[in-house]
Amino acid sequence: MSIILSLNSISKRYGAIQALGGVSFSIPEGSVFGILGPNGSGKTTLLGIVTDVLKADSGSFTLFGQAPSAVQRQKIGTLLETPNFYHYLSARNNLKVVAAIKRQSEADIPRVLDLVGLAARQHSAFKTYSLGMKQRLAIAAALLGDPQVLILDEPTNGLDPEGIAEIRTLIRTLATQGKTIIMASHLLDEVEKVCTHVAILRKGELLSSGPVNTVMAREDFIEIGSADVQALTRLIQQHPAFEKVLPNGNNLLHVTFNHAIDP
Ligand code: ADP
Repeated sequence: MSIILSLNSISKRYGAIQALGGVSFSIPEGSVFGILGPNGSGKTTLLGIVTDVLKADSGSFTLFGQAPSAVQRQKIGTLLETPNFYHYLSARNNLKVVAAIKRQSEADIPRVLDLVGLAARQHSAFKTYSLGMKQRLAIAAALLGDPQVLILDEPTNGLDPEGIAEIRTLIRTLATQGKTIIMASHLLDEVEKVCTHVAILRKGELLSSGPVNTVMAREDFIEIGSADVQALTRLIQQHPAFEKVLPNGNNLLHVTFNHAIDP
């Protein structure tokens, strides 16, 4: 299996903040690759560097085994922030606007609408869409031009449960059609449900990476029953005995013990 993206010791600072401190890992073709970490761990910065929105201070990366170039980037569709769709335009006409901006052919619009399951509602005004449908349209826009790879930053953020389910199903469908998907998420639960591979970031450092089953087998879980997950997470995060704490949405906390500390 070939490597789509290979990162070699990528570092990035914002003034005093070390957003990424020498991160290296590889993303295999055909994977749904989750970049998992709490807010502020460097996920968006990493995706920004890969998509040429930001420049790394040091380190390098390859796309499709080659130095990154405009030709390589054409093979990548991105959804890094919610596009500004026109509320009174239909989905189809909104995609015509996107195609014009991206200098892409309108001929691809029926295909992407079909792919994201919006063909039947393509003539409805955007403002009548549910949250999940709006996000599916955003993914359709990223799929214009038939990129091999799709990069999504927190694709289910801000959605209702129905929308979350729609987007997770769509991601799995796209993967079965051969797309490689790279997605940032702060939800362990999401990565376990949707991704085949994962890289775990914390404070700009890579904690582990590889197939989800292998990586998760190395980690520990604490059953917390029906406790207030968020409050308990905050409490444990402050404790020096724990290196890493992530709620996984099932009354479980995913923790890595800080072996430098004897609690
Ligand atoms: P994540 O996507 O995991 O939430 P980010 O990549 O957005 O993480 O941020 C990593 C760190 O860099 C955080 O501490 C954040 O506050 C900081 N940061 C991100 N963007 C900027 C910026 N433009 N200026 C200053 N600090 C930033």
